Amino acid sequence: MLTVGVDIGSTSSKCVLLEDGRKIVAQKVIALGTGTKAPQLVYEEVMKMIGDSYKDIPVLATGYGRTSFEHAKKQLSEVSCHAKGMFFLNPEVRTLIDIGGQDVKAMRIGPTGRLENFVMNEKCAAGTGRFLEVMARVLDISVTDMSELAKRSTKEIAISNTCTVFAESEVISQLSAKVAVEDIVAGILRSVAKRVASLAGRVGIKETVGMSGGVSLNQGIVSALEKELKTPVYVSEYGQIVGAIGAALFAYEDVLKEQKST
Ligand code: ADP
Repeated sequence: MLTVGVDIGSTSSKCVLLEDGRKIVAQKVIALGTGTKAPQLVYEEVMKMIGDSYKDIPVLATGYGRTSFEHAKKQLSEVSCHAKGMFFLNPEVRTLIDIGGQDVKAMRIGPTGRLENFVMNEKCAAGTGRFLEVMARVLDISVTDMSELAKRSTKEIAISNTCTVFAESEVISQLSAKVAVEDIVAGILRSVAKRVASLAGRVGIKETVGMSGGVSLNQGIVSALEKELKTPVYVSEYGQIVGAIGAALFAYEDVLKEQKST
């Protein structure tokens, strides 16, 4: 049986097609989020892969823009879906940190995969993918270059401002003081890791720690977070689609429940 999970974020749209709640058959990410055509497009792209039978497949939507997706039969919060998706990928994860485009969430996952508690920072770009994108632009690099650059740092500098606007000015002054880009990048990654670690501390760090969201693909952030938390951080190649996987899993469980009750 096939089910679909669609995760409509502030920055990107993700769609996953799952078979029997076990196998990822197809997936797609488009780097545009709610309020754009991307949610519809990402869904169509995945559905194209299975032809005309798509109309009968149950769709569950999650993410910031989940209520405005017409194909979904049901919506669920992204925290529940991230916890569900991570438990599917690695059932050992008890503390999950999701860094997306415009917010950061820290979740506690119980031994059966249930979301037990969470905290989030949604009012400020500090510590988010957006913060990293702004800093990358000032440095004239791509966010995907950050990890390699930070590895070459010999003298990490401290970025003292957490506010994106002030940190941007701080980076500009470092650049004009001829500080090496590698050292500035290492400082930026460290400052994000510190902020995220402090948020995660509010749910209580319990090992294994895992990371999801688009920023989990940034190995530089993962390494900085591991240093800050003093523990390994589990990441998956499916990091950005964890919420969509969770949504497809919930859709699958709903169908099983319906079948049982009839
Ligand atoms: P949301 O669900 O909040 O819309 P995502 O979880 O999809 O966002 O994360 C989007 C963020 O992930 C963006 O800020 C983007 O820069 C970052 N991102 C996506 N892919 C990569 C990558 N390969 N390396 C580093 N950062 C990435």
